[in-house]
Amino acid sequence: MAGTPGAAASPLFEPVRIRSAHTLKWLARSDVSEEFRARLPQAPRGACVFRGIPFDAGRILALNDKPGRVSLGGRKARWLVFLHTSDARPLDGNPEGFISPMRGEGRLGELACTYRVRFGDGSETAVPIRRRFQIGSFTKRWGENSFEAVAHLAPHPVRPPHEQLRPSWGSSQTRVDPGDTGDFLAWMYAWENPRPDAAMDSLFCEPSSGTVVLFGVTAGAVDSHPLRWEPRRKALLTLPTDQESSFRLDEAGLLEAVKLDLGQVISAIPQPLYPDAEWETGFNNQLPETSKNKVLLDYTSHPQALFHFPSRAPLPVARLSGEGVAGKLRVVPPSTRRVALRVVEKDSRAPVPVKLHVHGTAGEYLAPVDRHRIPNPAWFEDYSVDFVHRGDAGHKGEHWCTYISGETTIDVPPGTVFVEVARGFEIRPVRKRVTVEASTERIEIELERVLPWRQKGWITADTHVHFLSPASALLEGSAEGVNVVNLLASQWGELMTNVGDFDGKTTWGSREAGGDGEHLVRVGTENRQHVLGHISLLGYGGGIIAPMTTGGPDESALGDRVEILLSEWAEACRGKGGIVVVPHFPQPRAEHAAAIVAGKIDGIEMTSWGDLYSGISPYSLSDWYRYLNCGHLVAAVGGTDKMSADTAIGTVRTYARIRQGLPFTYDEWKMAVRRCETFVTYGPLMEFFVDGKPMGSRIQAGPTGGTFDVSWTAASVTIPMSRVELIVNGEIRQSIAVDEWDAQGNFQLKLDRSSWAALLVRGKYPDRPEIVAAHSSPVMIEAGDGPLFAAADALTILEQIEGALAYLDTVGTRAETAAYKRMRLVLESAHRGLHNRMHQAGHYHEHTTAQDHEGHDHG
Ligand SMILES: [Zn+2]
Ligand SMILES: [Zn+2]
Repeated sequence: MAGTPGAAASPLFEPVRIRSAHTLKWLARSDVSEEFRARLPQAPRGACVFRGIPFDAGRILALNDKPGRVSLGGRKARWLVFLHTSDARPLDGNPEGFISPMRGEGRLGELACTYRVRFGDGSETAVPIRRRFQIGSFTKRWGENSFEAVAHLAPHPVRPPHEQLRPSWGSSQTRVDPGDTGDFLAWMYAWENPRPDAAMDSLFCEPSSGTVVLFGVTAGAVDSHPLRWEPRRKALLTLPTDQESSFRLDEAGLLEAVKLDLGQVISAIPQPLYPDAEWETGFNNQLPETSKNKVLLDYTSHPQALFHFPSRAPLPVARLSGEGVAGKLRVVPPSTRRVALRVVEKDSRAPVPVKLHVHGTAGEYLAPVDRHRIPNPAWFEDYSVDFVHRGDAGHKGEHWCTYISGETTIDVPPGTVFVEVARGFEIRPVRKRVTVEASTERIEIELERVLPWRQKGWITADTHVHFLSPASALLEGSAEGVNVVNLLASQWGELMTNVGDFDGKTTWGSREAGGDGEHLVRVGTENRQHVLGHISLLGYGGGIIAPMTTGGPDESALGDRVEILLSEWAEACRGKGGIVVVPHFPQPRAEHAAAIVAGKIDGIEMTSWGDLYSGISPYSLSDWYRYLNCGHLVAAVGGTDKMSADTAIGTVRTYARIRQGLPFTYDEWKMAVRRCETFVTYGPLMEFFVDGKPMGSRIQAGPTGGTFDVSWTAASVTIPMSRVELIVNGEIRQSIAVDEWDAQGNFQLKLDRSSWAALLVRGKYPDRPEIVAAHSSPVMIEAGDGPLFAAADALTILEQIEGALAYLDTVGTRAETAAYKRMRLVLESAHRGLHNRMHQAGHYHEHTTAQDHEGHDHG
């Protein structure tokens, strides 16, 4: 039987045979999406077993415009298990990408079809099949889980690398195998003949003790010790185009396309092509292109070694170190000069932590002596303080950087080197070329703070960082100009991260902890549930709020029960003095709806991960706008969800203003987020006032509304700005073109009903499309029509809470009865609150699952 490998079928199920004309082949020719068609070969087929339940998928039934029938043959059964899926139904947004009403990509609650079960007596029961409840899509987007259905492929355990592979996860990080640990070793000894010009006659071997085996003897003619290799060198190799695809290391770490006899190729990396001629005018983190047929080789060898290529004469290494060019290999000047590199602040001349990139004339990355030469961006493999900017899908070039405290030591080649230094959004990044001479001992770079947001009381923060040690987070945060890094402990299956760093009291970098008080790291937790959602608990005191995950994969461990809600985690955090953020909003898109309408959330997080170029997603904004439209004021915050070196801390970040005249502390920062005096940004900074009131304010207007003065400022030293827009109730009210670096202005805002208003800044890198680069938290204005309420949005929020309830009731791994009942009450209460507001506002709608559940026995 097909299905999950090795799956056994339960004898308690009997497949029903579908007798129809439809087959997978037939389906492939019918009117389905291209992607659906392309993936059909992976669809269930024939006799198969999934999650222990056997199915007969020989013939299928495709429902599009025509109904179908399956004979149940008079059988009796407690359950009918449907194995079904649906094609994609893309969402239509407006040209700005905003979506309304917002049901999410999974079209939560939309009726996909109805099954009717007809009984022998002629009566029928209808089974509505709604999206994200009883059915999902053929490809699951992350965070778009089904509440009452599960994927046919069951979760299964995965062995950690050290149980599967050699070398192990840990030792593979060294990128080297000494080779002398094999099961059988022979030894090589090179004897230097004092009489090289004399003829040798014989070799006699005489044992004295034990056994000695001589496997062979070889005569050599090299000038120096044949077993001693020289320090590493670099060369640039040009390959014939038909060999382009073979530029990778094979399993044993040897390059397939080029080998050394008396030596070893260390690494082979496609050559990054930097725009060196325009280096100074490029922008921070701008990606290089990648050469298609040139490869940077690192190697170590005997001076008389030969490079060997397929179908070409061998090439002596010695010819490379001489004139520089030999055949298809070109020498890259070796990094023979060890220099001190310092980055200082212009006024104080004190060294400051920065993000640093240096490369040579061949595009070769030059790392400080105590940093990786080949940074590792893989998930949970390495947490060194590096940044590998990988750009977007389809772009092959990588831009490698590292973080330094302000002073470091680096080996550079003589000649020109290209340096990039950056430190956040208020200091103009520097790209500079430096000439290294035989006498050069130090390189000094000067940085200057250009934008005065910090002086105006604005504090920057990343609400979401994983895996780093607190000290590494402190260095990276400071080097990125981020004042507050929230380092989040969590659980991933059986993997626990940063739990030893959580002590519920220490703020690293604070004066009490011996720091300068300007850059802080605080360990919180991200508590997660794959269907109900994730929630970040920041800056709380006391013991860790655990369990940090529930309900099984793909966040929790197999077999864990759903024993606590996001809403309850949120309450626990607030009870311990913390603030609560819904991370990577809005996915996973489920229970946080209940927590937001119940007023338990302080911030919703716009998340970048490693992506510097896509900006704030209109998808995230659309979802947030629903809650604002219903009067729920929640601050916008920015966090990266950094989990590897492919993401820089603060790529997207929160700006929050602390109260005037008060010193900056972690507690003051929390207060600012609670007040919603925040904006989120990928680079541009802003100020925004409605009638002189800052972001997060509530204004009481007259009964008929009125006209309000909106004043704003926007400035940037990183991404060039293009437009500034006034958003009112989720729509663009005004939009104006602005200067790339510095702009201010006023809007007149006329309102005749309760509304919210926020500022949006668009921007554009020279070689990229325009993005939403910054967005403020709103100002709420209440007029005579009472608190803000939008029925269409409220309905989608209610459905989301109903989804969470349905999940608890059906496929969620059940906790003990008391916990289950307690969680149900929490969700019903949130649902009731919003539902009542809906009826009070005079909106009637069809009642769905949540109200139908009352009579059931929930055990
Ligand atoms: Zn998460
Ligand atoms: Zn996370």
